[in-house]
Amino acid sequence: MPSPTIELLLTLQDRDARRHAIEAQLKAIPREIAAVEQRIAAERAAIDAARGELHELESGKKLLETDIGSAEAQVGRYRTQQLSIRKNDEYQALGHEIENVQKQIDELEVRELETMYAIDEAKKRFAAAEATLRQNIAGHEARIKMFRERDVALSDELKAALADAAAARTPLPEPALEAYDRAAGRGLPAVVAVKGGKCGGCHLKVSSEVESAARGKLADTEFALCEQCGKMVYWES
Ligand SMILES: [Zn+2]
Repeated sequence: MPSPTIELLLTLQDRDARRHAIEAQLKAIPREIAAVEQRIAAERAAIDAARGELHELESGKKLLETDIGSAEAQVGRYRTQQLSIRKNDEYQALGHEIENVQKQIDELEVRELETMYAIDEAKKRFAAAEATLRQNIAGHEARIKMFRERDVALSDELKAALADAAAARTPLPEPALEAYDRAAGRGLPAVVAVKGGKCGGCHLKVSSEVESAARGKLADTEFALCEQCGKMVYWES
């Protein structure tokens, strides 16, 4: 049986471990929320990018329509001009001009068709990006709400755990607390059993002096420490 002081230290250690676990969970929450917010932002950015692409294509289509309109007007003007031309070579020259502009119109119309196809595709991407966010947003928001609620619950738990840990210190003599705090400062557990001659912290063999000190009924002012890892050790048969 461990000494009463060791029993009290083990209780304190349990409560400190619980406090640490709650603190670690609390610390992780802002990162979890930020990760969800980043996903929302990425989904919104995908919508904005798709919308921007769509607008760009639509203004490109408008420009093409304007160009086609002016080219067609040009052809119309040339044709009117042709009516008043009497010389054959001038008539033919204008005929060439009309052909050239008509060729440009054909090219512009091909580009207009390509743009229309691209607009259809961009509309699909925009709709898909919107659908993704619409589908996920409730889940994202629920997760954020859950993390916020967990934060509140854990903060309450932490308050209780801090009070429990403080209460566990009250019955302990000051030297025991000092030795414990020194060992705990290097990480929990601070108090470990020696089993089969080995330290429960570092699993190395302890010296016979440490072993007998751990075995002996500990005074409230002297504690056996593992020479390798510095943890407080007690005998457990
Ligand atoms: Zn050790």
